Amino acid sequence: MADYDVIIIGAGPGGYVCAIRCAQLGLKTAVVEGRETLGGTCLNVGCIPSKALLHASHQYHEATHNFTKMGLMGKSPSVDFPAMVAYKQSVVDQNTKGIEFLFKKNKIEWLKGWGKITAKGEVTVGDEVHHAKDIVIATGSESSSLPGVEVDEEMVITSTGALSLPKVPKRLVVIGAGVIGLELGSVYARLGAEVTVIEFLDQITPGLDAEICKTLQRSLKKQGLKFILGAAVQSVERLKTKAKISYKLRKDDSAGMVEADTVLVATGRRPYTTGLGLEELGVLMSPRGQIQTEGWRTNVDGIWAIGDTISGPMLAHKAEDEGIAVAETIAGQKGHVNYDVIPGVIYTTPEVASVGKTEQQLKDDGRAYKVGKFNFMGNARAKAVFAGEGFVKILADAETDRVLGCHLMGPFAGELIHEICVAMEFGASAEDIARTCHAHPTFSEAMREAALACGDGAIHA
Ligand SMILES: Cc1cc2nc3c(=O)[nH]c(=O)nc-3n(C[C@H](O)[C@H](O)[C@H](O)COP(=O)(O)OP(=O)(O)OC[C@H]3O[C@@H](n4cnc5c(N)ncnc54)[C@H](O)[C@@H]3O)c2cc1C
Repeated sequence: MADYDVIIIGAGPGGYVCAIRCAQLGLKTAVVEGRETLGGTCLNVGCIPSKALLHASHQYHEATHNFTKMGLMGKSPSVDFPAMVAYKQSVVDQNTKGIEFLFKKNKIEWLKGWGKITAKGEVTVGDEVHHAKDIVIATGSESSSLPGVEVDEEMVITSTGALSLPKVPKRLVVIGAGVIGLELGSVYARLGAEVTVIEFLDQITPGLDAEICKTLQRSLKKQGLKFILGAAVQSVERLKTKAKISYKLRKDDSAGMVEADTVLVATGRRPYTTGLGLEELGVLMSPRGQIQTEGWRTNVDGIWAIGDTISGPMLAHKAEDEGIAVAETIAGQKGHVNYDVIPGVIYTTPEVASVGKTEQQLKDDGRAYKVGKFNFMGNARAKAVFAGEGFVKILADAETDRVLGCHLMGPFAGELIHEICVAMEFGASAEDIARTCHAHPTFSEAMREAALACGDGAIHA
C-alpha cells in the first residue's frame, strides 16, 4: 500500500506546479525538497531575484537619465547596494512563503531533505522511506563552469553569487553572452560597474533572430557594456585583489587579457541529478547528462522527469507546463505541451522576446514566409516613455498568412509576446491580429502594426 499516489523530487517551478496540479486532480501528493525554502532555482536564485535587481537598477537608471527630461528635478538617488540586495531578498522570501501557503492549501506534504530513489516506487529522505506509485524527478539544474576556471563565489562567481554580492564591483567580466550573463551584466553596468562580456561565438544570445542579436548588442554597447566576441577564455587567474582573464580570439588565435575585480561565469547550466540513485536504477541518460524521456516517462516504469533535467529550453514556464502535463497524464488524462509555442524573454532594457520559428529556421526548412516589421519609434506610447528603441517582427506563412513566429525588442516585450503565443495556439493568421482592435495608446499597437505589415502595410510607418 503506497504512502502517496505521487512523490515529486524538487520544489522548483516544475515540481511545485506538478504537485499542485496532482492535488487538484485528487492525488495524494508529497514533494521532497532539500533547500530551506520552496520554489527551486527560479524563486530562490534565478528568475525572481534577477528580475528584482533588474527592476531596482532600471529605476535607478530612469531616475538618473530620464527624470530631468520630464521636468522632475532634484537630487539624483544614490545606490545603497546592501539595501538593494535586502529588497531582492524580501521579494524572494514573499514568493517562497507563497509556495508554502499553496502547499498547505492543497494539502501537499513537504518532505524536508534530499531524496534518493532507492527502488521503484520508493524514495528515501534521510532515515525515512516513503512509497508512491509514481515518482516525478524535478531536480532542476546547476551552473556549469569552464574547464580550468574555478568558481569560489567570491572573486569568480556564478549567477548565484552575482545575486548577493557585498558591493558593486568596479570592473566585472562576464564570461558568456547568453540570457543570464546579459541580464546580470546589465544590472551591474547600470549600477556603475565597467562590464566586459566575453563570448566564444561571434554573436550574443545564440539562437535568437539575427537582427535582434545585432540590435540588442548595439543597445547594450550604448549602455556601456563592452563585448569581446569570438574569444575562447583560456584561464582565470586569481590574484590578491583582482583576476586576470586570458583569452584567444578564434579568428586569428591572437591572445588577449582583461582584468576584473569580479568574474561572472555565465556559460550555461547542466541538469542536476546527483545522488538520486539513477545509475543504480538503470535510468537512461543522454551524453549531455539529461534524463532521457518520452512523454516525460523515463525507461523505468513509474519514474517520470520534467523541467531542466530533461531536453528542451531551460526555462521556468517550460518546466511548469511539463509539471502540469505529467500530473494530468498520471491522473489518466492526456497531458500536452506545445513545444513549438514556448516564448523566451531577455529582461534587459530594451526587453527581448521571441516565440516560434526564426527566419533562419524557416530558410533552413525551405518554407516560404513573409515578414511584417514595425519600429517602436512609430508607437506614440513608446515615444512618450523614452522607449522608442527596437521593433516587432512577425513571420507568417507566405501563402496561408498563418503566424509562424515573432521576435521583438522593445518596452514590455515579455508581456507583448503572449498575444502572439495565443494567436499561434489558435492557428491565427497575421490578418486575424491586424483586424483585432487594439487599445490606444498602448505598446500592443506595435504588434498590430507588424501584423498589418504582413499584409498591405502598417499605418504609422
Ligand atoms: C540567474 C537565473 C535567472 C533565470 N531567469 C529565468 C527567467 O527569467 N525565466 C525563466 O523562464 N527561467 C529563468 N531561469 C531558469 C529557471 O530558473 C529554470 O529553468 C527553472 O528553475 C527550472 O525549474 P525546475 O523545476 O526544473 O528546477 P529548479 O528550479 O532548479 O528546482 C529544482 C529543485 O530541486 C531540488 N533538489 C535537487 N535535487 C534534490 C534531491 N535529491 N532531493 C530534494 N530536492 C532536490 C533543488 O534544491 C531545487 O530547489 C533563470 C535561471 C537563473 C540561474
